[in-house]
Amino acid sequence: MGLLSLGTPLDWHESKQHNEHVREHGIAQLINIFAQHSSRDDDRFLWGDEVEYMLVDVDDADHTAKLAIDYDHILDDLNDPTKAGPKAEAANVSFHPEYGRYMLEATPLRPYDGDCVADYVYIEENMEKRREVAESELPKNIVPLTITTFPRMGCPQFTSPPAKPIGPASQSLFLPDEIINRHARFPTLTANIRKRRGHKVAINLPMYPDQHTKLLDDSIPRDRGLFPSDAEPHLGASKPGHVYMDSMGFGMGSSCIQITMQAANIDEARYLYDALAPVTPIMLALSAAAPMFKGYLVNQDVRWNVICGAVDDRTFLERGVDPYPGYHLTGGMDIDPQRHLTKHATNHTINEYGDISNLKTNDGKPIQRIPKSRYGSIDQYLGDGAVTGYFRDDYNDINPPLNRKVLERLQQQSGFDKLLAQHFAHLFIRDPLVVFSERVNQDDTLDNDHFENLQSTNWQTLRFKPPALYPEGTDLTKVPGWRVEFRPMDLQLTDFENAAYSTFIVLLSKAILKFRPNLYLPISKIDTNMDWAHGVDSVIDQKFWFRSLRKWNLRNSDFIGYDLTWFDRYTNKGNDVAGYLNGYSRNGPVKEEASSTDEDGEVDTIVDDYDEVDSDGHEKRYTVAEIFNGTDKFPGLIKLAIKALATEVLPASEQGHCNCAKLEAQVVRIKYYLMLLSYRASGKIPTTAHWLRDHVTHHPDYRHDSKVSQTINYDLIKLAEAVTSYDKTALEPLLGDEITSFLTGGTSA
Ligand code: GLU
Ligand code: MG
Repeated sequence: MGLLSLGTPLDWHESKQHNEHVREHGIAQLINIFAQHSSRDDDRFLWGDEVEYMLVDVDDADHTAKLAIDYDHILDDLNDPTKAGPKAEAANVSFHPEYGRYMLEATPLRPYDGDCVADYVYIEENMEKRREVAESELPKNIVPLTITTFPRMGCPQFTSPPAKPIGPASQSLFLPDEIINRHARFPTLTANIRKRRGHKVAINLPMYPDQHTKLLDDSIPRDRGLFPSDAEPHLGASKPGHVYMDSMGFGMGSSCIQITMQAANIDEARYLYDALAPVTPIMLALSAAAPMFKGYLVNQDVRWNVICGAVDDRTFLERGVDPYPGYHLTGGMDIDPQRHLTKHATNHTINEYGDISNLKTNDGKPIQRIPKSRYGSIDQYLGDGAVTGYFRDDYNDINPPLNRKVLERLQQQSGFDKLLAQHFAHLFIRDPLVVFSERVNQDDTLDNDHFENLQSTNWQTLRFKPPALYPEGTDLTKVPGWRVEFRPMDLQLTDFENAAYSTFIVLLSKAILKFRPNLYLPISKIDTNMDWAHGVDSVIDQKFWFRSLRKWNLRNSDFIGYDLTWFDRYTNKGNDVAGYLNGYSRNGPVKEEASSTDEDGEVDTIVDDYDEVDSDGHEKRYTVAEIFNGTDKFPGLIKLAIKALATEVLPASEQGHCNCAKLEAQVVRIKYYLMLLSYRASGKIPTTAHWLRDHVTHHPDYRHDSKVSQTINYDLIKLAEAVTSYDKTALEPLLGDEITSFLTGGTSA
């Protein structure tokens, strides 16, 4: 997560004096990046994934499972050319630090090629290698698991070795500072978020209401007097009926899977970013894997809002809420605190940029009302003008706060249109959280640390990633270009599943770039969907806003036959090339449907009968099954992905029909990847969250009080281990018979 500069990180009270300097030079660096790269074109569609692992100490004698916090040295070894470095390199994997001392992040060392079918399954092999290499450096009882959250994180004795929650960085009542990565950046980040905000972060998740649930978080100590902040839960930070969490580690100590893709040029990257935005909540719901926090079953299924809360550095005033008694509205901002000690947070005038009138920090920056945490869903589209022209200004309908100075400066620069200027002007409303004293002064023509400082601490559902700066004479075709990172998804237990979610996102992105659907939905509706995506079983119980399936600007008839049955026809040697390339209708050859063009000039081929329509008829509410699997009348995301595989990736990888066993095996594996997602979308198989919740509620040790005991926690971790290693009995309830037998060698295609 983010930039790891070496050096001395400054405490908030020193670092805040450099806020404006960092922003100013960050923007200078961005302008130089645009000057160097905005005209680059024809970059290859390369992609990669990032997975975050948790090291768990499983003690079979004691029946306990704990987060292992003293094996982080393996990360150094895995990056040391004289130690395990060459082993990782030979496996084409690269290990990185993450927030938790018990965490490892791993990626492929070299990116995958989006035009090569083999890479869409090689990702799974690469993921297996990561585990193998990490495991080879660890004793047998320390297991790297891909769990989104550790169920008992923050309960007594959840670490190995034990550590006490008495650390000054987080001041948490539950999480010891020893869980935080030793690199000085991470404890500083933790402390600076708290110091800027002026109080500890406070995350309240509704408890899962069961028969004997006591709607009171009784894990909150009443009488600790170690830090003044210890009183906060009793001053309003903790909410009745909710599980209360007070530290960055509850969020940034969770794990996810992220996919980064390189577009041919900046315009394609902008369109891809925009088109993926409405997909982010759908994939969050479909990947749900986090029903437990701090030893409780909670009444939601995903990690997302916990991280939003965990790094929320906004003051009371910025959030627009009244302070706890005796607390400052303006937190640790660089402003004379006495001025705003007791005033209410809400009676201020706010201008179009979000600035609160007559209130500035000492360096002249307006203090703003900021509706979202810096970890959150995206606030604006980038616009697709140069590619499709679908974008309309009213899709950007939430008016997020903007840094006016940055906006005006960028608008005077060539290369930045209004939408791009707004995008960066929004990211630059934030303060840098960690500044390294040795890196305050930089060469803006060569360094991009100040830009990255803010860019990489805006943790949004998507990240638009410009290239870095390079010395003159560098061959820019050999260095990373304009990329889009897809960031919302919870993490799955098996490499198969994580490969499946990644491959789907990449195939869908290929399809977006090729077939150019119009998926625009007002940002406010995406935000509503994000809220809904948190709900228990939202994947089957919720109807999400999505662009009316009549308005995707695609012809349904172009996608008929590109469902899961396409794979069977592809692998059937009797079919000819045209048969598989062109799709196939169940009712004989594909006939062109009668199409009409509506008042917007958009192709309108589909007659449907959904009635939840917005006033202009462009958005409706659909189940994930409809959006994902489509129906007879409209394609759904899966058909786009399959058609991209059939007509883009396969022809680029291999000419002609499927005549090679290896290619066939790869294509069949992709079929099972997509089957997994399709079955989860339709509810045929459960999400990881549903399956985990079921295990808890049916566990003999469960008292119907929403609590996850040490024994249940141990059994869940053992189960996760069994699933991770493809134990048939453990796997079947999670993945269903068909996928389980494929994975355990029962049947093939
Ligand atoms: N662990 C964070 C998450 O679950 C992501 C941190 C990062 O950006 O790498 O979303
Ligand atoms: Mg990460």
